[in-house]
Amino acid sequence: MKYISTRGNGERIESAEAILKGIADDGGLFVPEEIPKITLNFIGELTKLSYEERAKRILSLFLTDYNEEELDICVKKAYGGDKFDDVQKAPLRTLSDGSVLELWHGPTSAFKDMALQLLPELMSAALKKTGEKSEILILTATSGDTGKAALEGFKDVDGIKMAVFYPQGGVSRMQRLQMATQEGGNVKVIAVKGNFDDAQTGVKNIFGDTEFKSKLADKKVKLSSANSINWGRLAPQIVYYFSAYADLTLANRINLGDKVDFSVPTGNFGDILAAYYGKLMGLPIGKLICASNANNVLTDFLKTGVYDKNREFYKTITPSMDILISSNLERLLYHVTNDPSKVKGWMDELKAAGRYDVGKEVLSKLQEIFWADYTDDAGTKDMINAVYKAENIVIDPHTAVAFKAADVYKKSGGKNEIVVVSTASPYKFGASVLGAVGVAAKDADDFEMLEILREKSKLPVPKGLAKLKDAPILHNDVVEKEKMKAAVFDFV
Ligand SMILES: *Cc1c(COP(=O)(O)O)cnc(C)c1O
Repeated sequence: MKYISTRGNGERIESAEAILKGIADDGGLFVPEEIPKITLNFIGELTKLSYEERAKRILSLFLTDYNEEELDICVKKAYGGDKFDDVQKAPLRTLSDGSVLELWHGPTSAFKDMALQLLPELMSAALKKTGEKSEILILTATSGDTGKAALEGFKDVDGIKMAVFYPQGGVSRMQRLQMATQEGGNVKVIAVKGNFDDAQTGVKNIFGDTEFKSKLADKKVKLSSANSINWGRLAPQIVYYFSAYADLTLANRINLGDKVDFSVPTGNFGDILAAYYGKLMGLPIGKLICASNANNVLTDFLKTGVYDKNREFYKTITPSMDILISSNLERLLYHVTNDPSKVKGWMDELKAAGRYDVGKEVLSKLQEIFWADYTDDAGTKDMINAVYKAENIVIDPHTAVAFKAADVYKKSGGKNEIVVVSTASPYKFGASVLGAVGVAAKDADDFEMLEILREKSKLPVPKGLAKLKDAPILHNDVVEKEKMKAAVFDFV
């Protein structure tokens, strides 16, 4: 299986190389040249397997340059041991009406772990396979969740170092603690005097600085990125859609071959795109419900065919979906049109004018597969409360956005079993969640809040959050935004 650019520059490389590069030379994203097809029998076989074995079956179809032993080691390191607090890794919970796919049982309690536990192992194996002699330095700017998930994934991985920049005062206290207490001999966490955009711009400037990169090359260091456009983050996400489908048949909610709809809380379009790959492969998926918050650029796009980022940006109680440019949409447009020059044209328009229009024909193809809706913060809180009352479970705000869209879709006539994709533990967003279920916890500190939520939710407090209370602070550095490059150089 070879990987090519969505913008058609003719690059054609193996998956290991695509994973190390992250992005194609023409700025496009790597996509598989062909989509592997599976049979219902293949899905039937999955029902007998553990999550790790399911992952190997699916990944081996895409990462054909990794041999069985390499994949086995990567998958075991990612999902083995006690990193996940549920043996099923991505358990499916059936409700009285529909079901929920829980993707937050990893070390940082958000769905990013599903991919960011595996990506570092795939990169480390890729370094060996390609004979790369340099050390890889991963640089990331984070508004909170991604940085921590990446740090946990990359800590103590051979041949790779990682530096994370976060805006000083721009993340929650819990998120700051999660990063400032990060262990690992190869990682560095640095606060930037500025906001998230300053940190992000600083990182982008470093990536674009050829002189700096050649200085790093003299030290045998190459830059790479762990963000969600890397194919090595997407491929692991395809696995849990198959896993959920297999578990639905085991739970007798569906018969093998029945169509299932998935409702996915969406930001950068990575999670829902993985479901789309599943559908292309032959997983019986009906509709993919794209659920957004008040930053509803995707809802408008899937309803009108016009993508327009020129709009007000809202800070919501679902911060991981506060995004106006959904990078992974580019891959969807490539697969739906099979026309890289069109894709390149739209991406150029997006860059120049912040807007593009895919036209009626492409829109109707998209609408055969996707359905979209959005909800604001008030609707999100109402939904947390409604699900608590109806099903007696406490869900996080991002998950609530997907519940809401699923609800509206069902009322508009959806007939299939709907799986709501749950992307974060409610413990990560305790204050919003407690408010929504009617507990006044305004004066409680973060750790008191964990305790109140434990009583309310009957869920165990995630280890990674509970241990923060007594964890030593290991990272104290604060830099001016102009000094980020120097900080990186000091680190290497
Ligand atoms: C990242 C994230 C999302 C959005 O996922 P995308 O792949 O960016 O669409 C949703 N919920 C949570 C909790 C997240 O961390």
